[in-house]
Amino acid sequence: MKEIGILGGGVAGLSLAHFLGEHSEILEKSSHAGGLCRSFEKDGFTFDLGGHILFSKDQEILNFELSLLEGKLNKLRRASACWFKNRFVKYPFENGLASLDKEDAYNCLLNFIQNPQRPQHNFEDWIYNTFGKGLAELYLLPYNKKVWKTEPSAMDMQWVERIPKPPVEDIIKSAMGLETEGYIHQLHFYYPKSGGFQTLPTSLEENIDGRINKNFAADRLVRTDTGWIVANKDGEKRYEKIICAMPIFELIKSLGDVPPEVERACWGLVYNSLSVVLIGLNRPRKHDLVSCFFPQSDIIFHRVVFQDYFGKNYAPEGCSSMLCEITSRHGDELWSMSEDKLCERVIDDLCRQGFIDKSEVVTTAVQRTKYAYPVYDLRREKNLQIVKEYCKELGIELCGRFAEFQYDNSDQVIRSAKTVSARVLQEAGAG
Ligand SMILES: Cc1cc2nc3c(=O)[nH]c(=O)nc-3n(C[C@H](O)[C@H](O)[C@H](O)COP(=O)(O)OP(=O)(O)OC[C@H]3O[C@@H](n4cnc5c(N)ncnc54)[C@H](O)[C@@H]3O)c2cc1C
Repeated sequence: MKEIGILGGGVAGLSLAHFLGEHSEILEKSSHAGGLCRSFEKDGFTFDLGGHILFSKDQEILNFELSLLEGKLNKLRRASACWFKNRFVKYPFENGLASLDKEDAYNCLLNFIQNPQRPQHNFEDWIYNTFGKGLAELYLLPYNKKVWKTEPSAMDMQWVERIPKPPVEDIIKSAMGLETEGYIHQLHFYYPKSGGFQTLPTSLEENIDGRINKNFAADRLVRTDTGWIVANKDGEKRYEKIICAMPIFELIKSLGDVPPEVERACWGLVYNSLSVVLIGLNRPRKHDLVSCFFPQSDIIFHRVVFQDYFGKNYAPEGCSSMLCEITSRHGDELWSMSEDKLCERVIDDLCRQGFIDKSEVVTTAVQRTKYAYPVYDLRREKNLQIVKEYCKELGIELCGRFAEFQYDNSDQVIRSAKTVSARVLQEAGAG
C-alpha cells in the first residue's frame, strides 16, 4: 500500500509523484496521463488540446523541464500577430501600432500617454489605466470579452501580472515603426521536436516507475481513522494522505456531507470550456507566424496556432495546419454545436478572412475540454477561499490549475507540485 494517493494524472499529479517518490501513486480517470497537455494525431497532423509552448520566468523549474526533455526540444522564436482590419498587426498589439491606420495609431499613442487614471476596481479599469482608451477599445476589451465570455468590468485583477505593462518608449517606437518586442519572457520558447506538448507529461510519466493507475476515477472519498478510502464502482484504494490534482469540482462531488455553503461556493466558481478545431491543409504555410489572435465577434475562434511552425514532424511534407481555439461556457450553444457544424463554421470564417481556400482542406478534427480556463469573476476569490478552507480542514492538499482554480501554466503547476511535496514530506517527517 502507498501512503499518498494523488488524484489526477495531469502535469500536476505527475510532478507530485516525481517529487514525492516511491510512497506515492496516482489515480487517473482517463486511459492516458497528461490532462490539458495531451496531444493528438490525425492523418499525419499532430496537434495539442490548445496551443501550448514551453517557457518560464521561474529559472529553476525551466531548468527542470529542460533536463527532463533533454535532446527532445527545438528552441524557437515567437512570431505572433493580431488580425485587425484585414491585416496582421504584430503581437502584442501595442508593439505593432505602425501597422494600424494612422488615426488608430495616433489615438492609441495619445491615449497611452495622456491617460487620466480612474479608480481601479476591476479588469476593465486596469485595462484603461494601463493601456489607455485607444488600445483598450480597439483590441484589448473586445479580445478579452471574447476569450473570457465575461465583461471585463465583471472580472477582478488577480491574474493581470501575466500581462506586462509596456514602457512608454516601446509604445512610441512601435507607433513610429521601429522594431520592439513585448512579453519578452516568452519571446523565445521551446517545443518538442515530435509528439506535441504531450512529450512533457510523457517524460514525467517515464520517471515515476509506473506509479499510476489509469482508468481509475476518484468518484467517492471516505475518511477513515487512518486516512482515506478512494473508491469507484470497480474498486477502492486506501491512503494515509490524499492530494487533489484533479479539478476542484470533482473533489467536492466525491466527498459526502459537504456543508451547503461550501457546495454553493464551489459551484459558484466560473470556468470556460474549450473546443479546438484542427484544419489540415495540402499546401505549405504562407507566412512565418506561430499564432494569430482574433478579437472580432463575428469570427468564431479567438486564436489560431499554426502547429506546423513547431517543426517538420507536425504535418506531412508540403502540408500545413491550423489549430483554431474557441472558448465557451460548458453546455452553451457553442459547446453543443456538432463537430461537423463547428468545422464548417471555422472553415467558412478562415475562407472569409482570406486565410484558406476550401479546396485546400485535407483533414479536420475536433477536441473538446470541459475545464480549460478558470474565470476570474468578482466572486472567485471569496468562493475559492471558502472551498480551500474546507479542504484544509479535511487535510486535503490542492495542487494544479483546476485544483487550485488558478490561471496557471504548466511551469507554475510544477512549481506548486514541488512546494506541496516538500510540505507533505516535511509533515511526514521525511523531508
Ligand atoms: C488553451 C490552453 C493553452 C495553454 N497554453 C499553455 C502554454 O503555452 N504553456 C504552458 O506551460 N501551459 C499552458 N497551458 C496550461 C497547462 O495546460 C496547465 O497548466 C496544465 O496542463 C495543468 O495541469 P494539471 O495537472 O493541473 O491539470 P489537468 O491537466 O487538468 O489534469 C487534471 C487530471 O485530472 C484527471 N481527472 C479528472 N477527474 C478525475 C477523477 N474524478 N479522478 C481521477 N482523475 C481525474 C484528468 O483526467 C486530468 O488528467 C494552457 C492551457 C490551455 C487550456
